Amino acid sequence: MPAIRCARCGAEGARYHVSFARVSFCDKCYIRYYERKLRSTVLKYGMLKVMRRPLVALSGGKDSTSALVGLKSVFPDLEVTALYIDLGIPGYSEESERVVRKVTEELGVELVVHRLRDEGRTVPELAVGRFKRKPCAICGTVKRYVMNRVALERGHDSVVTGHNLDDTVEVLFELYRRGQLEEAVRLRPVLLGDGVKLANRVKPLFEMTDEEDLYYVDAKGIEVVESWCPLVRGAKTVSRKVLIHEIEAKIPGFRHTFLKAHVKRYLPVLEKVLGQPVLRECAVCGYPTTSEVCSYCRAMRRVVLQRGGEVAGGKATGG
Ligand code: SF4
Ligand SMILES: [Zn+2]
Ligand SMILES: [Zn+2]
Repeated sequence: MPAIRCARCGAEGARYHVSFARVSFCDKCYIRYYERKLRSTVLKYGMLKVMRRPLVALSGGKDSTSALVGLKSVFPDLEVTALYIDLGIPGYSEESERVVRKVTEELGVELVVHRLRDEGRTVPELAVGRFKRKPCAICGTVKRYVMNRVALERGHDSVVTGHNLDDTVEVLFELYRRGQLEEAVRLRPVLLGDGVKLANRVKPLFEMTDEEDLYYVDAKGIEVVESWCPLVRGAKTVSRKVLIHEIEAKIPGFRHTFLKAHVKRYLPVLEKVLGQPVLRECAVCGYPTTSEVCSYCRAMRRVVLQRGGEVAGGKATGG
């Protein structure tokens, strides 16, 4: 079989085949391709204007690591800090923290570690009641809350996450299927906050696929967490991603077309029809929510009740 040539420089042995674009690159040209695409996404959506001092949520996985490494490589002057949330998942959290420490040290990026255990409850402890079978739902709520709170407490204007095209298409697919348009309208590359209780949320990998992120960390020679979170087993997100890949195999370009239609066609209409959600202060913690008590505080209460503890002074204390 003839050696595959790099589409850019013509060198033999192109290791990275970008499936959706049907093009292969050598290591050096792939890094260049990825970083140019990242730069173009950041500029296209005006991300630099809303992330002057970003806090990058780093899990140790390929996506968030690509976001941090990519931003540092493309915008070296950007004042970036990384946040690692220790979810308290035995084995997995320790391994993730080791990898995160390594990459931030290599990059010379400040790392902030937030331990859920210090607040009294880990993700396995929070996954009780109706969340027992879907720990990712409560884990997502806690992560969003902690990212926002830590960012604001430390004076960051924005939270950067590694959500990519595959993540967004997977969630959108479900939201449109269920008609949850209020949530679909929030799935965008930049979600503006109020600068006081809500930080801006920025997704520089909005147009990258899982495959592109994986190739990027590989080409850069950066270690990422290889193991899967033990709580992910049976999660619907995984089976939906598989389904979407099956659709993509039958309808090439499905994911890109779907995302483009969302951003260009549906979002402008949804924004007009739905307007901005009415937010108020959570009665417990004071952070913005659409209900009386935010979902984070409700989760904390559940654990306290489960433990027979009590809620005091806005902070839950369990036994
Ligand atoms: S797989 Fe689910 S529970 Fe595990 S870290 Fe990810 S969101 Fe949290
Ligand atoms: Zn090349
Ligand atoms: Zn709250």
